[in-house]
Amino acid sequence: MMFEQDRTALSELGREMVEKGLTRGVGGNLSQRGDADHVAITPSGIPYDDIDPVDVPVVTTEGDHVEGELTPSTETPMHTMIYQQRPDVGGIAHTHSPYATTFGTLGQAVPASHYLVSYIGPEIPVTGYEQPGTEALGREATDTLGEEYNACLLRNHGVIAVGSDADDALETAQMVEFCARIHHHAVSIGEPIILEDEYIEELIEDIAEYRQIA
Ligand code: 13P
Ligand code: ZN
Repeated sequence: MMFEQDRTALSELGREMVEKGLTRGVGGNLSQRGDADHVAITPSGIPYDDIDPVDVPVVTTEGDHVEGELTPSTETPMHTMIYQQRPDVGGIAHTHSPYATTFGTLGQAVPASHYLVSYIGPEIPVTGYEQPGTEALGREATDTLGEEYNACLLRNHGVIAVGSDADDALETAQMVEFCARIHHHAVSIGEPIILEDEYIEELIEDIAEYRQIA
C-alpha cells in the first residue's frame, strides 16, 4: 500500500482527535505529507472509528486524488495550500474544539494569557469568515498563518494547526484548545494579565528548544 505509514498514522490519530474532545462526529480532518508531492488526508464525512489505513485517500500537493476509494476531505484545498506555502509543515490538524471555536465565533484572537500560546505564536489569530471547503477559506488560513504561526482560529468554524507531522499538529491543536479554555475561564471571572511581548518572544525561542525542534 502506497504511503502505508502515513495512512496508518491518520487512521489512529482520527480516533485520538475524537477521544481528546477536539471534534465531534465527522467534523475536522487530518493530513500528513507522504513525500514532496503527495499528501495523505482523511476521507470526507466518515466517522473516525470507521477509518482503516486503506480508506485514507492520497492526493497530490495540487489536490489531485491518486489513491484510496473514498473521497478526500472537503478541506483538501486548505490543506494543500498550506503545504504549498509552508515547506516546514509535514502535518495538519483541523478541529472543531469547543473553547477555541467559541473565540473563533466571536471573531476574537486568543491573546498570550497563558505561556503555552508560544506553541502557536505571540497570540492565536483568527481568520475572516469563508465557507467550509472553499479555496477562499484556504486563502484566509494561509494568509493568517503566514510563515510563522503554527495555528489559527477559523471564524465561526474551528481551528487549523500545523506541525512537523500530523501527530505534532494534533498536539498543537490541543494546546490551542487548552489556551482558549484558560482564557475563557480567566475572562469569566476577571481581567487576565496578558504576557508582555519580551516574555513571549523569549518563550517562542525557548519552546522550540524545549520541544527539541531543530
Ligand atoms: P470533511 O468530512 O469533508 O473532512 O469535512 C469536515 C469539516 O470539518 C469541514 O470543515
Ligand atoms: Zn471544519
